[in-house]
Amino acid sequence: DDDHEEGEEYLFKIVIIGDSAVGKSNLLSRYARNEFNLHSKATIGVEFQTQSIDIDGKEVKAQIWDTAGQERFRAVTSAYYRGAVGALIVYDISRRTTFDSVGRWLDELNTHSDTTVAKMLVGNKLDLENIRDVSVEEGKSLAEAEGLFFLETSALDSTNVKKAFEMVVRDIYNNVS
Ligand code: GDP
Ligand code: MG
Repeated sequence: DDDHEEGEEYLFKIVIIGDSAVGKSNLLSRYARNEFNLHSKATIGVEFQTQSIDIDGKEVKAQIWDTAGQERFRAVTSAYYRGAVGALIVYDISRRTTFDSVGRWLDELNTHSDTTVAKMLVGNKLDLENIRDVSVEEGKSLAEAEGLFFLETSALDSTNVKKAFEMVVRDIYNNVS
């Protein structure tokens, strides 16, 4: 639209939420730096990573925020959500409790942001298929019921990681351009 003449930039804030140890930090490091850490501790320091994506010849920047471990203390602040236009809500397919928490994370997201936020439900650790604890169907039907996109990913082997972030970015872009 008129707010975005040629040469102007698109910058979208995207937040990653979900229980501790579901792989949020590794999804981001896999996407932004193609790195994976088997022994990652709660990341302290880096607040967000900015990634440039080409959509229809336009440069779109995704500023992707990671929680830096506050989720362990249920203290993800409103500042974290402020201005977000996209969100990845992550659970671990091998740990049902993390799937059971998705509703709580959605409530928190909805409290702190407006309804037009593009949301992707992410079932991470797809490489742990042999100890799967949440079926694909359960993930799918929750996503359908809540109006979310849905993908299963593996930050370890990279499956669907780029796709998960870029589907969100593309949806945001489609809604503003
Ligand atoms: P966060 O607390 O949600 O940020 O989770 P982390 O990214 O710190 O990951 C927690 C643990 O899960 C670490 O030991 C990671 O190596 C591991 N992990 C993260 N993603 C995957 C994945 O896709 N597959 C497997 N097998 N392990 C993962
Ligand atoms: Mg983390």
